Amino acid sequence: MTIDTIAAKVTAGERVSADEALVLYRHAPTPLLGRLADAVRARKHPESIVTYIIDRNVNYTNVCVAKCTFCAFYRDVGSPEGYVLGFEELFRKIDETIAVGGVQLLLQGGHNPDLPLTWYEDLFRAVKQRYPEFKLHALSPPEVIHLSRLSQLAVPAVIDRLIAAGLDSIPGGGAEILVDRVRKALHCYGKATADEWLDVMRHAHRAGLRTTATMMYGTVESDEERVEHLIRLRALQDETSGFTAFITWSYQPDHTELGGREATGLDYLRTLALSRIVLDNFDNLQASWVTQGGKVGQLSLAYGANDMGSVMIEENVVRAAGASYCMDEAEIVRNIEDAGFTARRRNMHYEILGGPMFREREVPRMLELATARAEGDTSVPVELANYPARSRAGKEARTR
Ligand code: SF4
Repeated sequence: MTIDTIAAKVTAGERVSADEALVLYRHAPTPLLGRLADAVRARKHPESIVTYIIDRNVNYTNVCVAKCTFCAFYRDVGSPEGYVLGFEELFRKIDETIAVGGVQLLLQGGHNPDLPLTWYEDLFRAVKQRYPEFKLHALSPPEVIHLSRLSQLAVPAVIDRLIAAGLDSIPGGGAEILVDRVRKALHCYGKATADEWLDVMRHAHRAGLRTTATMMYGTVESDEERVEHLIRLRALQDETSGFTAFITWSYQPDHTELGGREATGLDYLRTLALSRIVLDNFDNLQASWVTQGGKVGQLSLAYGANDMGSVMIEENVVRAAGASYCMDEAEIVRNIEDAGFTARRRNMHYEILGGPMFREREVPRMLELATARAEGDTSVPVELANYPARSRAGKEARTR
């Protein structure tokens, strides 16, 4: 097996094995990896369109019992820095998102023991009642598993209830690396094993939802384990065809328990290119400019990416770990067009909605990232009193 024979397979549209992927990843020159990935992208997207979505990334709570060692975002139960957003705060964020042409919330949060399944159902119903067309791309697989454990209901039943309340799709967060040795080392095996993460997605796809898939690399995993992650996603996609897109990003080490160093931009581009080559049954790959910056994000379009992800209105998780890149729609479109592509707005299903919104009508420029909460705001939403708390701190707070 030589690099040339594997490259010829990729060029001919044949599937590569795990061993072949590993040889490419370790030994292929970066320009060759890029050319191969770009050829796969061009085969799938011959019209030279690069898409993006206008949505808002909102973290409804930072309270979490999972305590992953790579996470700088979470706060312990009872922490004075812990927060839960109120329904009214979320409506305000949706109003601001709609004002810039946004179509959905990407809604994720910590595993808060004091938010029962009924809180999520009531929130989703309230959003859908007020904004019938607005989409909820919400709750990554570990959050669904957390709700299954809290409610003592099986995962498919939780998914069915969330869909009935208004859930439209599930983001692929919490996958990290889908190998249990790595998950144990990162203290995220308890929140979801590799099989459990994949099972949530399997159930979601069977229930008719489309979802995304992700990979966070650069912690303790080996090259073999990165490849194994991709192969496991490819196998599930063969089974269900339910993934719309794949997004990979590098671990952001600042302020985390795990610490360490961030992977380089070159490692990112090689990993992205390999993902495009291995994931031959995924149509869309996003550029993770939020962790890599706009310029590497733009370069991603030559290494397999065909989507620039989301206009960044709000971001809390990556910022907590030290990175805070911000691009509004005009900036994203400039990066796409300067790279020689046509920019198109899309929805969660990657259906084209139109050209850039800012060229159709006046929209406010969002040049600064919003946060979940203004600094120093420790208010507790009134409706929380309607939901039973599980933690001692939560019970005490609700009887005050
Ligand atoms: S990554 Fe998610 S589950 Fe893990 S500690 Fe952070 S908020 Fe909790």
